Amino acid sequence: MTSRFVSVLASAALSALAATAFPVHAADAFSTCLAQLRGPALKAGVTGATFDTHTAGLTPDMAVIDLLDAQPEFKTPIWDYMAGLVDDERVTDGQAGMARWQAELDRAAARYGVDPATIAAVWGVESNFGRTLGGRPLLTSLSTLSCFGRRQAYFRGEFFATLKIIQDEHIAPQKLVGSWAGAFGQTQFMPSTYLRLAVDFDGDGRRDLVDSVPDALASTANFLKRAGWNSSLDWGYEVRLPAGMDTAGAGRKNKRAMSSWAKQGVTRVDGQPLPGGDTPAGLLLPAGRNGPAFLVTRNFDALYSYNAAESYALAIAHLSDRLRGGGPLVQAWPTDDPGLSRAERRELQRLLIAKGYDVGEPDGMVGTRTRQALQAAQRELGLPPDGRAGQKALKALRASAAAKTPG
Ligand code: CA
Repeated sequence: MTSRFVSVLASAALSALAATAFPVHAADAFSTCLAQLRGPALKAGVTGATFDTHTAGLTPDMAVIDLLDAQPEFKTPIWDYMAGLVDDERVTDGQAGMARWQAELDRAAARYGVDPATIAAVWGVESNFGRTLGGRPLLTSLSTLSCFGRRQAYFRGEFFATLKIIQDEHIAPQKLVGSWAGAFGQTQFMPSTYLRLAVDFDGDGRRDLVDSVPDALASTANFLKRAGWNSSLDWGYEVRLPAGMDTAGAGRKNKRAMSSWAKQGVTRVDGQPLPGGDTPAGLLLPAGRNGPAFLVTRNFDALYSYNAAESYALAIAHLSDRLRGGGPLVQAWPTDDPGLSRAERRELQRLLIAKGYDVGEPDGMVGTRTRQALQAAQRELGLPPDGRAGQKALKALRASAAAKTPG
């Protein structure tokens, strides 16, 4: 199972922190540690030859320890998170991907009982449809995490799993790059998840989640099936609550029959009737009583198990609806300063660059540099310097640029 802190997209904002001096004594500690790992690796099914070949010349990357310990310096509001993950660009890219891989998606849907839009939505959120895989060598990151820092036992299991993937010749070592914590490929599976759940779907005998889209799509479907996905259920619905409804019983796990929610006056926002009957559903209020509300089924729990965050599961669920042709959320988030799409984030970065700030490449990823530049620009414009890339900041930068343009 992957978890929230390992995804490439989720951790991209932290990568700017990754530059730490490498203490000399760590090199000795690392060689000693590697020698001690050989025995347990062999017990886990790695051959001596594999271990020796692929640990020779390894040096630790202490930056991953900083990333392991890094506390997010900025709490992302759910409306920023959703605006960046479910934007028009990702819907367009996803629909193009679904058309391109329609035959494989249909075949995966038939075999695993997970519909094409759901599979594609996971693909889009995990790796932007195979475009963002992460660039850190797994053997380096995972051997470092096996020898230093918190959770060494967990990362040793992942390190040995990586060696087994190489040993079985499914994926070449140089292709095994990913997030700092070892999530890799188009599905961003951890190596142990790969060993349990990856499938060969293009029939070449290798389970290749890096270069084979069919293998990646079918492996995602297999993951969701094993997590309890039920092909006869929707993930849930955006719903409207009756005025004055008591929401004390809200919560994904607090499930009650759909019919009981309907009896309380809960309706779908699109005017369709709630499916009646006994289907258990929980009331999800990601931003509290005054934001969008959702009734979610056990299929939402299957999405949740992919990355252990409700905001993550909601991004996939909502993206899958958009890929099926559905519209944006009907209810507004409780803010007067909504989030930015990736196109708008790139525009904000270009406007900062035009003002002379260094934000690196305008890539639509709002990291430390972009936030610091934005804070400085906000000060310059007489605005509260919170460094948050939202609609108000974008509008202020647009107005400032327009004021400077003659004519
Ligand atoms: Ca294959």
